[in-house]
Amino acid sequence: MATLGDRLLFATHNEGKVEELRALFQPLGVGLVSARELGLPEPAETETTFVGNARIKAHAAARASGLPALADDSGLCVDALGGAPGVYTADWAEGPGGRDFLRAMTRTYDALLANGAKEPWSARFRCTLVLAFPDGQDEVYEGEVSGRLVWPLRGALGHGYDPMFMPDGDTRTFAEMAPDEKNAVSHRARALEALIAKRFT
Ligand code: IMP
Repeated sequence: MATLGDRLLFATHNEGKVEELRALFQPLGVGLVSARELGLPEPAETETTFVGNARIKAHAAARASGLPALADDSGLCVDALGGAPGVYTADWAEGPGGRDFLRAMTRTYDALLANGAKEPWSARFRCTLVLAFPDGQDEVYEGEVSGRLVWPLRGALGHGYDPMFMPDGDTRTFAEMAPDEKNAVSHRARALEALIAKRFT
């Protein structure tokens, strides 16, 4: 098995994801450096699956930096929308002036109403992590968290669609939870648990 070392590149330009993974890796003694900090370009996500897009990001960063690189591709899958927005979760935020997640969540809500979807609006966040090495090898880890969507939006913490998502077993949205509470149950934490089980135990 290729070695990981104590410095890992996280192939993302999303600061919300960096903060979450940095907190999760800290107890393991692994420091994360982000693609943005190294000034690496963001490759186009041209695949139609989470694993395909995570592979593009992880391999591009590992090749460019010579470091093991971890990439996350994640998204929200809404049952009443046939799994949408799925791999297009970030794209639903695009519009004039750049990404706006209030726009993305409003679009999701409007799609539920247009479909006549009855509450509860069940949904899950999914996360695929790909750990890629400069020699071209990789490993894939997955996690998900089930819950339901709420409207109106609640909470100001977190990032992305957090104000709309209430995980099963809780009455708060992710945006109403402290970061360590979200990290205890999130899709990203679960995918990372799988990585830790293989790499750190
Ligand atoms: P990508 O993985 O960078 O292509 O984008 C996934 C998108 O899914 C992000 O831009 C967020 O909008 C959304 N997303 C992924 N994980 C979370 C989360 O933990 N909370 C809220 N939104 C998330």
